[in-house]
Parts: sequence; C-alpha cells; structure tokens
Amino acid sequence: MKLGIVIPCYNEEEGLSETTKQLQSLLNEMIREGEISSESFVCYVDDGSKDRTWELIKGFQNDDSHFKGIKLSRNFGHQNALIAGLMQLKDEADALISMDADLQDDIWVVKDFVAKYKEGYHVVYGVRDDRTTDTGFKRGTAEMFYKFQAFMGIESISNHADYRLLSQKALNTLAEFKEINLFIRGVVPLLGYKSCSVYYKRGERFAGETKYPLKKMIAFALDGIASFSVVPLRLITITGFILFLLSLLVIAWIVLDKLFFNTAVQGWTSTMVSIYFIGGIQIMSIGIIGEYIGRNFQQSKNRPRYIIDEEI
Ligand code: UDP
Ligand code: MG
Repeated sequence: MKLGIVIPCYNEEEGLSETTKQLQSLLNEMIREGEISSESFVCYVDDGSKDRTWELIKGFQNDDSHFKGIKLSRNFGHQNALIAGLMQLKDEADALISMDADLQDDIWVVKDFVAKYKEGYHVVYGVRDDRTTDTGFKRGTAEMFYKFQAFMGIESISNHADYRLLSQKALNTLAEFKEINLFIRGVVPLLGYKSCSVYYKRGERFAGETKYPLKKMIAFALDGIASFSVVPLRLITITGFILFLLSLLVIAWIVLDKLFFNTAVQGWTSTMVSIYFIGGIQIMSIGIIGEYIGRNFQQSKNRPRYIIDEEI
C-alpha cells in the first residue's frame, strides 16, 4: 500500500530536522519490511510560518524524494492546514495519516495504523492512554471539554486528537464536509465506516513551544461545540421557560399583595436581584445565539478554507 503522512507546521524550525530524521528511519524500515510501498511519502504543510520552516522543508525535499511540502499563503490555523494537506493528497495515497510536527505522538504507532488499515479499517484513531507528560492544566481542561461535549450530545473519542489514519474512501467522504469552522475530530466520527483505535503514550513536545495558547484553545473548543450541537440554543429556551413559570408565581404574589396586604414599595432587594439576574441571562443568551449566527455568516460567504502558495 502507498502511505502518506501529513504534518501541519507553524514555526517549527527548532524541531523539524529531528522529526524528519525519525520519520526517515520509520519510512525506511517500513519500506524495507514491505509494509508500505516505496512511493510512500511525508508531506509537511507550512501554515504561514514566520521562521525558517519553509526553507527547511525545501531542504528535506531536496535530500530525500520521500519528502514533499505545501506552503499556504498565510497562517490559516492547525485544522485548516491539516485539511489542506489531506484534500491535496487524498488521490495520491491509499491512506493518509495526520500527525503533529513536535513528536509528541509516538511515530512508531504508524505501524499499528497500517496493520489496522490492512485488516480493513477505514478510520483508525490514535488514542493517548497516558498523558502524564501534559500539564495538569491541559489535562484538566481537556477532560472537562470531553465531558461537556458528551453532555451536548456530540460523539467524540476521548483523548484522541488529530493523530489518525484515514483511507482514501474516508478522505473522499470527508471532502464532502465543507464546513468553515472546522473541527476535524468531530467530523470524522460522522463519516461512519469501519473504525478502531490504537493506543500510545503521549510524550513531551520535543522542541519549541506549544502553538495552542489559551485563546486558541478556547476558540477551538467553541468550534467543537457550536459546530456540532444546538443544545446550547435549547438550553436558552428551557431557561426562558423556567423563568417564565417562576414569573407567574411572582405575579400572583404581587397581585395578592396589592389586593389584600398592600405592602408595596418595599422590595428594593428583590427588584435589583431580578434586574441583574435576568439581564445577565439575557445578554448571555444573545451571545450564545450570536455564536451560531456568526458561524452562519462565515459559512454563507463560502470563502476558501485554505490557499496554497507553493507545492513541492
Ligand atoms: N499548527 C499549525 N498552525 C497553527 C498552530 C499549530 O499548523 O496555527 C501545528 C503545529 O505546528 C503542530 C500542530 O499544529 O504541528 C499542533 O500544535 P501544537 O503541538 O502546538 O499543539 P499542542 O500539542 O500543544 O496541543
Ligand atoms: Mg504538540
């Protein structure tokens, strides 16, 4: 079989040489053992890096014909860079594996991916069964996010990121999903097809620092919810309904008070509390609805998800 490995890179000059060296030994060994054909390749997608990443990629391509490169015209973000690589190369390999440039995900698991592909699986998820090298903060927030997604009724694979194999058939189906606010790991389970997981231990980032600061993590998490679930909209409706029921009680009390006790005017506390409480809920609800309208707006413009500048 012909295998392709797709790796999005954003400012990865510090680690890319080591990544290339390790991938070379992996590819050579697998080709020697006859597990994959000698036309198999690794393709780096340069996501508008501001450092020497693209120069390095050109160098690797020069030295070893198993290495290719795609340069995007600017920074489009991890998910878009990944989809650019997958869509550009899907017709050139029997299956594509996506991974990160930083060697955090054990590259030797590629052998298990290929074995599963040969058993007839179209989607193989890489799942981290040990994340002790991630910071407590990253693990905690990730855990919360998986739970929240499940609560919203979104199917997702816990502890699976973007390390996976997709067969050509799965890739052709993925090509039909034209969403702008892309959250690939949420789309893949929707493809159906025969799938399975392989397990590995997640390591340290080999060089450089994370390209996912908190701000990007939050934006990414929002995409992971608002692009897949309308439960937040329903929660607004339910909250509104509960407040409406409560207001009936309050109205009854106000009227009864007027008719029988006449103690009105009093009640500054309850007035202030309800102004702030209802006001807060209203503004938050408008914000949530806005998230969906904003996504609709972006999708309706139908702009390209990525722009390729150069391909080698
Ligand atoms: N990445 C990218 N574009 C971006 C941000 C990240 O292509 O705008 C790439 C990055 O080079 C790496 C992968 O996405 O190969 C995952 O990023 P990172 O390792 O920083 O994320 P973390 O493992 O910390 O979640
Ligand atoms: Mg990483």
